[in-house]
Amino acid sequence: MRTPGEFDLIERIRRRVVARGDVVLGIGDDAALLAVPADRQLVIAMDTLNAGVHFPHDTRAADIGWKALAVNLSDLAAMGAEPAWCTLSLSLPEADDAWLDAFLDGFSELAAMHHVALVGGDTTRGPLSICVTVHGFVEPGRALRRDGAQAGDDVWVSGTLGDAAASLALRGIGSVNAPRDVSPEVAAALAVRLDRPAPRIALGRALAGLATACIDVSDGLLADAGHISHASGVALAIDIDALPASDTLRDVFEGEARRRLQAAGGDDYELCFTAPADATERVKTLAREIGVGVARVGRVGVGAGVVASTSDGRAWSIARTGFDHFMPSA
Ligand code: ADP
Ligand code: MG
Repeated sequence: MRTPGEFDLIERIRRRVVARGDVVLGIGDDAALLAVPADRQLVIAMDTLNAGVHFPHDTRAADIGWKALAVNLSDLAAMGAEPAWCTLSLSLPEADDAWLDAFLDGFSELAAMHHVALVGGDTTRGPLSICVTVHGFVEPGRALRRDGAQAGDDVWVSGTLGDAAASLALRGIGSVNAPRDVSPEVAAALAVRLDRPAPRIALGRALAGLATACIDVSDGLLADAGHISHASGVALAIDIDALPASDTLRDVFEGEARRRLQAAGGDDYELCFTAPADATERVKTLAREIGVGVARVGRVGVGAGVVASTSDGRAWSIARTGFDHFMPSA
């Protein structure tokens, strides 16, 4: 079999692209030409996935494709933006068209769900690494930023936390020990949360103009809540036992192990946001309409930093609140 060249690979990618009317010129020229709506701000985010760092080496190509786009869309969700376009830089150890097709299965499935057009990129040889840039729009003044939380606001979290970190724990990755007798069905349910995170685009759009601050939970809730605290100049008090957990997580992990997975595990790609106390009913209603759970997990106060406590009022802390690429693991 002939080894595909760079341009064969690019052609395989081009055939899978979602069509959009605002793409004047997509893949194939020196750069893409895009029609930006006159009455919107452009929102841009970029995230890289490196093999062995962001996903285990044995992750399926289709899951890598999904996740590479999902983590980027999650950043747009956290800004309250509507996704439109993306670019893709692929560093591949070899020109493997079967791997690329499987990668594109996952990537294209999610791109179609959110109507995102891949408009360009770069294809090079090197260690497996995928870098995606996403572009979206938001109405001027309505973007969800990290710096708007106010003392008195509630702190909310979407969906559930901890499943992705639990899946890693089952594979012996991380500092939480997993039980040995976990069924394949349970392991698969947790793995889906790690491999196929669902970016909360609809929730982010609905919160735009309502939430006072927002961030997506990628590194671990306490670490990410810390970014809101720092940017907004406020203190966040989190009730660690109020963090929403899936039934699967509750079945497999309890006590401190579950708290640690939920508070600091990361890879959740849920939204953590703050909203005024009088917006509680509106938040619940829009979440119900969208079909995503939301839980109130704390309060914003004056001061600085994130303080966690258990439901019976004891202070709760953890050495490592989240993932940091350049810190030694605890
Ligand atoms: P140039 O040499 O002008 O930088 P390339 O040969 O890198 O162009 O790419 C040719 C075209 O294919 C460009 O439009 C580029 O955006 C697109 N492209 C290359 N790699 C990818 C990729 N991985 N995904 C999407 N588009 C790609
Ligand atoms: Mg190039």
